[in-house]
Amino acid sequence: PYDVLVVGGGPAGASAAVYAARKGIRTGIIAERFGGQVMDTMGIENFIGTAYTEGPKLVASLEEHVKEYGIDVMNLQRAKRLEKNDLVEIELENGAVLKSKSVILSTGARWRNVNVPGEAEFKNKGVAYCPHCDGPLFEGKRVAVIGGGNSGIEAAIDLAGIVKHVTVLEFASELKADQVLQDRLHSLPNVTVITNAQTTEITGTDKVNGISYVSRETNESHHVELEGVFVQIGLVPNTDWLDSVERNNFGEIVVDRHGATNVPGVFAAGDCTNSAYKQIIISMGSGATAALGAFDYMIRN
Ligand code: FAD
Repeated sequence: PYDVLVVGGGPAGASAAVYAARKGIRTGIIAERFGGQVMDTMGIENFIGTAYTEGPKLVASLEEHVKEYGIDVMNLQRAKRLEKNDLVEIELENGAVLKSKSVILSTGARWRNVNVPGEAEFKNKGVAYCPHCDGPLFEGKRVAVIGGGNSGIEAAIDLAGIVKHVTVLEFASELKADQVLQDRLHSLPNVTVITNAQTTEITGTDKVNGISYVSRETNESHHVELEGVFVQIGLVPNTDWLDSVERNNFGEIVVDRHGATNVPGVFAAGDCTNSAYKQIIISMGSGATAALGAFDYMIRN
């Protein structure tokens, strides 16, 4: 059996595996796609110590670092079941069952898409999902935020300090964000809020030049010219396959400050957990925490 088996090969999983392997224990990583969300990221400007890098380049160095330690990397393999017996068992989609003394779940999350024409086509060409990451790319420009929940309104407030103008499009008849956020938003001079707005298309040529929506009150179509669209309609953790591991209302795995879950020997890290913020550097930190937590667990059991 493995000592530590990491499920998920994004920055959290890579960090957890390196920290575990450095204890001289048998470590493996199962990844549906090594690199995770970072593979889909163009410019990265907030990986501290590196002023600028690109997703695939960072993933290549994660892979190189992991390989330095002789970690078993099982790429293109999807875990479908976790069961705790004497050891923790992970069953893969292909039927294989792997056993380990401890498991670190780092299966990440995915942004919920609006699924309108133009979204996929202009991803990284004006369509963005992370205001902390991509906000500065739109300095002085006009953007829209799709979604009037807490993350959408936080994004709009954040962006309003950087960009020229923010249009918030909310599908429902009112914003769902906390009142304090709404009050703050309404105090800003360069924000327009449109409720009852159903986004129909993100338009552009080689990059985004506007957004179209239909008013659900009047059925009229509208088009707003702008340079960027932030989609903020939720982050979905990749945790639906876990039934015995405690998750919160958002589906995020609940961890303590050692990265431990409710199942003894099962730890979790990164975007699949109830961490307050979802970023590369934060997921790497929590991956390190979970690996050290798993090591502590092993030397006690
Ligand atoms: P992920 O990166 O999501 O990795 C999850 C891993 O688990 C993947 O290997 C996946 O294939 C695997 N997996 C999932 N389910 C299973 C399963 N059942 N079995 C096996 N493997 C599985 N953050 C920043 O700090 N700076 C940025 O500039 C930035 N830009 C971003 C741009 C975009 C377009 C996106 C989408 C995100 C961006 N982020 C950025 C956020 C950052 O990418 C995430 O916070 C980070 O990747 C989370 O790491 P993770 O390891 O927790 O999860």
